[in-house]
Amino acid sequence: MKKFTLILTAALLAIGLAACSSSAGTTASKGKTDGKLTIYTTIFPIQDFTEKIGGSHVNAQSVYPANADAHSFEPSSKTMVEMAEGDAFIYSGSGAEAFADKTADTLKNQGVKTVKAAEGIKLLSSEGEHAHEEDHEGEDHDHAGHDHGDKDPHVWLDPVYAQQMAKNIKDTLVSLDPDHKDQYTKNYEKLKKELQSLDQDFKTTLSKAKHKEILVSHAAYGYWEKRYGIEQLSVLGLSASEEPSQKQLENIVKEAEKHDIQYVIFEQNVSSKVSDIIRQEIGAKSLTLKNLESISEDDAKKGESYVSLMKQNLNTLSTALND
Ligand SMILES: [Zn+2]
Repeated sequence: MKKFTLILTAALLAIGLAACSSSAGTTASKGKTDGKLTIYTTIFPIQDFTEKIGGSHVNAQSVYPANADAHSFEPSSKTMVEMAEGDAFIYSGSGAEAFADKTADTLKNQGVKTVKAAEGIKLLSSEGEHAHEEDHEGEDHDHAGHDHGDKDPHVWLDPVYAQQMAKNIKDTLVSLDPDHKDQYTKNYEKLKKELQSLDQDFKTTLSKAKHKEILVSHAAYGYWEKRYGIEQLSVLGLSASEEPSQKQLENIVKEAEKHDIQYVIFEQNVSSKVSDIIRQEIGAKSLTLKNLESISEDDAKKGESYVSLMKQNLNTLSTALND
């Protein structure tokens, strides 16, 4: 990290010099070219909410490339330089982004406002009641660079907590740009209503489900267990790069058969090798859930939003829980 900071400082210095030679004086609002705030974000829901709330006054960008794994991504020094030019850096702060706390410290020193979108939310502990506890050798619990620590960071998948995140984002935009407070508040209220109705859809659909268990590759869905009473059996926790032991495989297969699981649920940004072995073993079909840590190029092209992708997730759940 030391070396990284040095490179960054050198790069920032170069930019500073370039800026000085081309224009006199610095502006109060760093990134406000063409009158817009520039906000750098991480996981997709933060980018999407910032866009929705900011409307035409905000340029919101995620530093994550398509299909990035939120937990292991590290920004390049070029990206860091760009972020230092922004007005704010908003990340979840739930522990999903391994790089973010250090990066936030660096950016703060450059005068960038840094915000944790999940501030004020009590995170679930991820003691791994299910498959996670079956493989804790090395205690670091780092499957394929996917370290979940002792809190479940996937808080954005809960439509109720998502409202709190949206509020924190709204407050950030208002404090950076009070002139457009009314617009930001109006956009936030609209988003909040959509999130409330999404929560209602989840409640209605999941309360009617025939059974409660889903078999997923990566244990990202603890917040749905708590909020909606479903149960995830997860394959990861068994490292994605390792073959599962015969005993571990047998346990998952036994659980899946006990609950008459017909589907194994994969994710586009998580390795699926081990899960596929299990899918074959129990003769299940496959489905895909979107954990929204990042978005695929295809979904980005289609203009999908947090709400539209969560509705797809609910359809997927409905299939998995009613067959
Ligand atoms: Zn994850």
